[in-house]
Amino acid sequence: MIRKTRLFTPGPTPLLPAAQFAMAAADIHHRTAEFRSLYTRVLSQLKDFVGTTNDVIILSSSGSGAMEASVSNLTSPGDRVLVLTAGKFGERWTGITKAFGCHVDVVSAPYGQTFSIDEVKAALKLETRAVFVQATESSTGVRHDVQAIGQLLKDENSEALLIVDGITGLGTTHLDMDAWGIDVLIGGSQKAIMIPPGLSYLAISQRAWDRMEATYNPRYYFDLRKERKNAAKGESAYTPSVALIAAMGAAFNYIAAQAGTPENPAGDLKVGRAMLVDNAETCAAMTRAAATAMGLKLFAPKGNEAAAATAILPPEGVDSGVIVKGLRSKFAIIVTDGQGEMKGSLFRIAHIGYFDYMDTIAVIGAMEQVAVANKFPGVTFGTGLIAAQKVFAEHTK
Ligand SMILES: *Cc1c(COP(=O)(O)O)cnc(C)c1O
Repeated sequence: MIRKTRLFTPGPTPLLPAAQFAMAAADIHHRTAEFRSLYTRVLSQLKDFVGTTNDVIILSSSGSGAMEASVSNLTSPGDRVLVLTAGKFGERWTGITKAFGCHVDVVSAPYGQTFSIDEVKAALKLETRAVFVQATESSTGVRHDVQAIGQLLKDENSEALLIVDGITGLGTTHLDMDAWGIDVLIGGSQKAIMIPPGLSYLAISQRAWDRMEATYNPRYYFDLRKERKNAAKGESAYTPSVALIAAMGAAFNYIAAQAGTPENPAGDLKVGRAMLVDNAETCAAMTRAAATAMGLKLFAPKGNEAAAATAILPPEGVDSGVIVKGLRSKFAIIVTDGQGEMKGSLFRIAHIGYFDYMDTIAVIGAMEQVAVANKFPGVTFGTGLIAAQKVFAEHTK
């Protein structure tokens, strides 16, 4: 059999062909009217994609660059901040805030879990200047309750800014930045937007812009106020990743067109964004049902499963590498093993971005092949597929 390489990783995710063509055609200088018109359009589409009226900034970096920019622009050395962590990406917040001299309080839940709002409340101090959290923790497949954290900060009249890494949350879960009181919402190009790594973006509230007037951690390349000034003129402060910006525009057109009608084939990006979230949720629900039917346990607690990716435990006594390698060698399907200390104990299948029904059925079918070949208890052909088919029919009826 020939094998088609297929990514099922929560970033980078499979590329949208229309975005790849847009990249190849993006032979544009960044100080021209042509670029300014493209950039202005993409920034405006990005607001609709994030779902906010706040200004959005694009940076040429992977997602962690925007995480760092949020810390360097919004904190000063010695600031007391609160990091909520339950996985590898939460730990990145601790690392960055410490690197910029913050006094870091940490609420940590075990991998595969989320923290309770009571724990967050107990850790929140009068002096807390910012709270850092993930919308979804990609390393464990867990969704955190950002809305409840926003509500807590409001109830407590906290001055703390709420800074959310939505890098795998955007496009996979409903996030209402403006209504929930999120001050900074961060995304990355290689996740739900279906284009290669290299761009990050931040939506920033007025409260956060005001905070930047007084903070004094060092920043130069990632100076958000400078970027905002340039963006208002349709430019970026330095040479931007022109090709990726063209790709981003093409991806937004595609997402909007999912909501197209014969009268309006271009569709609507806000509706398309909701459809993209729904798509991820459906693929995730199919995968969870299939895994459960195959006797495999899910890592995330019920009700807090991320739609970005599903983390699945192998059968007792089996290393998850058996599944990861089985899918790779026989089907050229790339899924990720657990990160760090979770390596060998779980594997993750992504649903974020350009995945559809066919992709999901394919990976479940391949999982059955690997399970049967390795004599996983109770699995016969069709076990997972039947469960997934039923979920799809139910979700799309
Ligand atoms: C992918 C990802 C990041 C960013 O990682 P980069 O490699 O810097 O793009 C950050 N947080 C989460 C939750 C992610 O999934």
